[in-house]
Amino acid sequence: MENKIKAFMDEVIARNGHEPEFIQAVQEVAETVIPYIANQDIYNGKNILLRMVEPERLISFRVAWVDDDGEIHVNRGYRIQMNSAIGPYKGGLRFHPTVNASILKFLAFEQVFKNSLTTLPMGGGKGGSDFDPKGKSDDEVMRFCHAFMLELNRHIGPNTDVPAGDIGVGAREIGFLFGMYKKIRNEFTGVLTGKGLSWGGSKIRPEATGYGTVYFAQSMLKTKNETFEGKTVVISGSGNVAQYAAEKAILLGSTVVTLSDSSGYIYDKDGLNDEKLAFVMDLKNNRRGRISEYIDKYPSAEFHKGKTPWEVKCDIALPCATQNELNQLDAKNLLKNGCMCVAEGANMPCDTDAVHEFNNAKILFAPGKASNAGGVATSGLEMSQNSLRISWTREEVDERLKDIMEDIHDSCIEFGKEEDGFCNYVKGANIAGFVKVADAMLAQGV
Ligand code: GLU
Repeated sequence: MENKIKAFMDEVIARNGHEPEFIQAVQEVAETVIPYIANQDIYNGKNILLRMVEPERLISFRVAWVDDDGEIHVNRGYRIQMNSAIGPYKGGLRFHPTVNASILKFLAFEQVFKNSLTTLPMGGGKGGSDFDPKGKSDDEVMRFCHAFMLELNRHIGPNTDVPAGDIGVGAREIGFLFGMYKKIRNEFTGVLTGKGLSWGGSKIRPEATGYGTVYFAQSMLKTKNETFEGKTVVISGSGNVAQYAAEKAILLGSTVVTLSDSSGYIYDKDGLNDEKLAFVMDLKNNRRGRISEYIDKYPSAEFHKGKTPWEVKCDIALPCATQNELNQLDAKNLLKNGCMCVAEGANMPCDTDAVHEFNNAKILFAPGKASNAGGVATSGLEMSQNSLRISWTREEVDERLKDIMEDIHDSCIEFGKEEDGFCNYVKGANIAGFVKVADAMLAQGV
């Protein structure tokens, strides 16, 4: 088996050797899916996984825009249309200076499995740009988004490819992107998700990734007769995912003691509450400030410059910032301090060695493609509401989100439970996600 995995990875590396994040994501899937395929006659000789690692279409384009001083800038835009076997391409747009083809291909690849797990008919895609919204005025962001959509519009559509937000793309950017699409196409459709509530957006969409991550962790804890009640929770990040993961974790009776951004983390031994969280939401969403400002407002908290929060003792860790933010040493620290559950709110925040540490220690560990699928699942619910031209209540959407997260958990157990009763959620999510897409690809022919 080791040889089969190695031969497969050699081929992937030969084609994508300069793309480390993409290789990392494929390796993690190959390690669990290749042994599974070997025992399933229907997949033999079909090269399904090799077909799945090659994007159906990779679009890259120039985005030129003018800043407030009249200077012209050029960024690179992308859309990776990874797999459409089970539905239109679906996945976010990321605007961040680190964005490149490797990062977007890893995200698009993960998205294929994640979207398959949601039980909704969505293929996988991802896009974005190396544009940095940080420090730009609203007008500059608008001009960039308009220029970006001027090209992207010809590649997307409500039945073709439905982008949404990701890091650096929130309600403001989705608004500007939607406005330009509507102007060019003269169509009011559900071509993007994460829209404002008065123009086709879904209730609970902003909360969904964070809430979903906590719902998933709740299901995992339940298998050990545990709950969030009375637990200490460490969260990284302070954007949309971290904010709502914190809100839900607090509501369930736990103490959330950290949040972070790229400058460092804050530690509040008393725990965040609704008022403190409202401060963080205003700071991050409206004022676009740094998390360190938290200690100016709440001086009993500490700010640890340049550090990540994995050194803090906790029962539950929710990495909600970005890829590879938690390494093997961090994983060892968490385990040493008694952490029993790690659920990824971000995409691939734990590196390969960290994931192996958690699984070898047999603690509860959920990969993002399972635990953070609530965001895209609720995007899928937004698409349904747009098609039906109705809007569901908050309670209705939240109920559906909870059901979907439970279904994903069940799928992970079905494919991930090992002989000694331990559930390897990485294996479960990869195989369950793979089977649905692979079967559709088989049915549709080469
Ligand atoms: N960017 C989110 C993710 O990583 C959401 C994508 C979507 O809603 O399409 O799943």
